[in-house]
Amino acid sequence: MSKGGYGYDLFVIGAGSGGVRAARISAGYGAKVAVAEEYRVGGTCVIRGCVPKKLMVYASRFADDFVDAAGFGWTAGTPTFDWAKLIANKDKEIGRLEGAYGSTLGKSNVEIIRSRAVLEGPNAIRLTADNKTVTAKTILIATGAWPFVDKTVPGAEHMITSNEVFHLQAQPKRVVIVGGGYIAVEFAGIFHGLGSEVTLLYRGEEILRGFDDDLRKALHTEYEKKGIHIRCNAGIERIEKTADGFAVHLTGGTVIAADAVMAATGRLPNTAKLGLESVGVALDKAGAVIVDAASATNIPGIYAVGDVTNRLNLTPVAIREGHAFADTVFGGKRVEVDHNTVPTAVFSTPEMGTVGLTEADARKQFGEIDIYKASFRPMRHVLAGRDERMLMKLVVDATTERVLGVHILGPDAGEMAQLAGIAVKMGATKVQFDATLAVHPTAAEELVTMRTKWTGA
Ligand code: NDP
Repeated sequence: MSKGGYGYDLFVIGAGSGGVRAARISAGYGAKVAVAEEYRVGGTCVIRGCVPKKLMVYASRFADDFVDAAGFGWTAGTPTFDWAKLIANKDKEIGRLEGAYGSTLGKSNVEIIRSRAVLEGPNAIRLTADNKTVTAKTILIATGAWPFVDKTVPGAEHMITSNEVFHLQAQPKRVVIVGGGYIAVEFAGIFHGLGSEVTLLYRGEEILRGFDDDLRKALHTEYEKKGIHIRCNAGIERIEKTADGFAVHLTGGTVIAADAVMAATGRLPNTAKLGLESVGVALDKAGAVIVDAASATNIPGIYAVGDVTNRLNLTPVAIREGHAFADTVFGGKRVEVDHNTVPTAVFSTPEMGTVGLTEADARKQFGEIDIYKASFRPMRHVLAGRDERMLMKLVVDATTERVLGVHILGPDAGEMAQLAGIAVKMGATKVQFDATLAVHPTAAEELVTMRTKWTGA
């Protein structure tokens, strides 16, 4: 029994990135904690998101490596790819990670309850697995999000999502991906690298809305050069099952044959049938839990972190929110997460890494800005004979010389964005970037050697 007569001090619903961190840190502060999970411990990121995705990205990139090796003098046999082996090895690793998450929780004295949990009152939670009700002083909703599929499209039931894509029995040879965000672009690169014919259908003008326009265009160009078909301004009329797969009918009459059609059209907060309405937890129009800067909902004692709050839907943000919640509620120090200047990467091939403001946003917010750009063939690509360019871009406030944004397209861009993120977060100026000596020969050295302002030429 916890202090105050409740079964637990903290009951967390959802053992994903945010929930696990919150549970572990709260328990470390001496709270009696349980976390309920109806599926697998680890949540979207570990089980069917970032981690298995990155493993598949690695797998897909060997295709280029085999080809590039020839330029460096290597001769090898014709490589073949075994989908079943990749999936089995990936599943093994995910199983290992799931076990590690579980044992970390156990070592932290967090009780894991394998059940769906539904709110019954502001301090009561019903566990559907055995229809038992438990009580807690504080409840944390960390149930994440779920792929959105537009059910109004006839034949939408034929589409897979990022939930199913990790478990396909066989590699689809022809893949149509709907959407133009992170997941669509990443899986277009994965399937292409693994040898599938890929068509990406995006409803807008250009893929990756919200990212810097130069990088969006540059990645589009590189994808097309590789042979990934991108159709912008594409509308889907219907999807039909055919004798050997599916036919995707576009508005305008084009029909694309596919073995798999994947919807990567965003994710919706997981708030349905959680009993939130019965307790009066306020949700926004998208169904996300409304929280304040300390992740508190409108109901005292009920908090929410991660994708279910639809603030900035990235794993490290959920983890930080979970940690801040624990510090605030059980650690005696109020911590608020700063959602500004969060570095992020799109694991396309070539990769995109970015931190801070895009050129367009910086112009809106700061008026006068300076742009520095470098577009070049990375050293490795030259001998490899690979016609793929790298793009680096700095967005600088013309008045203060502060670097407002760093945008990178090319190998290891995500790794670079992580480090550049420190400088941008610290408010580094262009002069300070310039004062930093280069690491030579690297691609990243361009970030500290760009001296000429971009004039649009
Ligand atoms: P995104 O929000 O990134 O992209 C959704 C895409 O689907 C957009 O291109 C959007 O178009 C389009 N779309 C939305 N609704 C429709 C519709 N009804 N019909 C057609 N197209 C539609 O979501 P994702 O699903 O790609 O990823 C979900 C979240 O997961 C991301 O927001 C991201 O935060 C996270 N994530 C992060 C990754 C990383 O850090 N590397 C990797 C994968 C996911 P429009 O632009 O016009 O709105």
